[in-house]
Amino acid sequence: MITINEHYLKLQASYLFSDIAQRVVSFQEKNPDREIIRLGIGDVTKGLPKACIEAFHRAVDEMAEDGSFRGYGPEQGYAFLREAIAENDFRSRGADITAEEIFVSDGAKCDTGNIQELFSSDAKVALPDPVYPVYLDTNVMAGRTKEFEGGRYGGIVYLDSTKENNFVPDLPSEQVDLIYLCFPNNPTGSTISKAQLKQWVEYARDNKALILFDAAYEAFIRDDSLPKSIYEIDGAKEVAIEFRSFSKNAGFTGTRCAYTVVPKECRAYDSQGNRQDLHFLWNRRHCTKFNGVSYPVQRAAEAVYSQDGKKQVRDLVGYYMRNADLIRKEIAALGYSYVGGENSPYIWIEGGQDSWQFFDMLLDKAGVVCTPGAGFGKCGQGYIRISAFNSYENVQKAMERIRAVLG
Ligand SMILES: *Cc1c(COP(=O)(O)O)cnc(C)c1O
Repeated sequence: MITINEHYLKLQASYLFSDIAQRVVSFQEKNPDREIIRLGIGDVTKGLPKACIEAFHRAVDEMAEDGSFRGYGPEQGYAFLREAIAENDFRSRGADITAEEIFVSDGAKCDTGNIQELFSSDAKVALPDPVYPVYLDTNVMAGRTKEFEGGRYGGIVYLDSTKENNFVPDLPSEQVDLIYLCFPNNPTGSTISKAQLKQWVEYARDNKALILFDAAYEAFIRDDSLPKSIYEIDGAKEVAIEFRSFSKNAGFTGTRCAYTVVPKECRAYDSQGNRQDLHFLWNRRHCTKFNGVSYPVQRAAEAVYSQDGKKQVRDLVGYYMRNADLIRKEIAALGYSYVGGENSPYIWIEGGQDSWQFFDMLLDKAGVVCTPGAGFGKCGQGYIRISAFNSYENVQKAMERIRAVLG
């Protein structure tokens, strides 16, 4: 008899985005003449940078000729891309990361989901609330949690991100082994200072723990005193793995390219307490289960680091951040308290009522779609997330309507 992995039965069906879609459809049916503006999406809306498209096209043409055709590439990514990443994203900021420590992949979602395979099934997991659901669900699937009760899984240490701690969780009061952090944060848009991140690195060193640092939104950091990489903190290379993506900075959400940094000195332990090398283990896993990102996509990603590409990515991020600035200004003028939007594309707004009630009110009265914070965890109750990923014209129109309703 073939039996299933019963840990999957513990998973809560994620109703968030289908619930939103359903409410939007039913609103549109009742109000066929009203135009809806979507500020709920976590997906970019603008086309790829020109430098990326040109490199993409050139590489596709290379694939047509026997002389320049490429078959299977190195699983870890081509050296041209790994070198460009190490130099531009790390060494230029004083973080001593080499090309061999970069693992190119088809997504930070997959990597943040797959990485937990390297750790024992009784590892104690700490993750933020509200949270990007991938961190939590993949640990549920792997059997690191008990049942779901009262809005939370047993066995998980939830790191509350609240107004009281300015949406940067405090260190856990109990001993944990595996810690997920995401800054700039999705969904709250909050950021972490170097001094705060240093405390987490010290916690991991003192407790033989490991930090999984998701920096998918680093390109949106405008305050240069904030860390873009955890490796800007001394001692982090031993205790942290970092995830990056071309999805949000260069619009690769549909093109697919990302990377994970596992430093050579990064460690975990076996059950005897002996040090084990995570770079070796992740390389073994990656080569066994992954066959590399397509050559044209890696060439397109490399172009992000060309002179033109850097400028075009800056302009792209700048475009969304102008939206974020407008949203923040309008929300502040209405007297609502919020966080985010200064160094991130998300604005996390305290609605003063149930998240879904606030969602319904904005949809019914303003025709604007946001994301209810309660969908990201218990601590998200009472909040909504507004995304800056849309056209400036749509954001202007949406904010005018919101002002008319709430002002
Ligand atoms: C969008 C996003 C990613 C990027 O995922 P990809 O699979 O690279 O597109 C990673 N982490 C968070 C928190 C995100 O919001």
